[in-house]
Amino acid sequence: MGSDQYQFNFDELDELYREVILDHYRNPRNKISLASPDIEKESFNPFCGDDIILQLKISKNGTIEDIGFQGQGCSISQSSASMLTSLVKNQTIKTALKTSNIFSNLIQGHEPTPEELDKLGDLEVLSGIKKFPVRIKCALLAWVTLEEAIEAYKEPDSN
Ligand code: ZN
Repeated sequence: MGSDQYQFNFDELDELYREVILDHYRNPRNKISLASPDIEKESFNPFCGDDIILQLKISKNGTIEDIGFQGQGCSISQSSASMLTSLVKNQTIKTALKTSNIFSNLIQGHEPTPEELDKLGDLEVLSGIKKFPVRIKCALLAWVTLEEAIEAYKEPDSN
């Protein structure tokens, strides 16, 4: 895990959480390049050197038909991107933004309702990151990228 060892002590995370994070890191879901994405967005986290590129294929009724990510960086940023893609694929962009909001609140210390938690799936395991303020940016990077991508997609229609 390279430089991660110096910045982040995995032993402080619950073992089950750790396993899910490492599974997504080692076997990322949807780590693919889409042939003709409707929107592509890249973001960096200079504090950690994380890099995420998201590509989305959005249907006319606003559903995320396909999503792929590329990137490199720490296990938190990459596993969060993998979880994001599996979660928001086939969601409407409206629901995806809601999911992003719930996750962002969760990781910044807000206690989610059981219904909110339900919507997060595997992402719940990243809630342990809130104990490590310096890593919150890592966990949120893919989500910030998603929000920017959706904004950029919506803009042409909004006038
Ligand atoms: Zn990171």
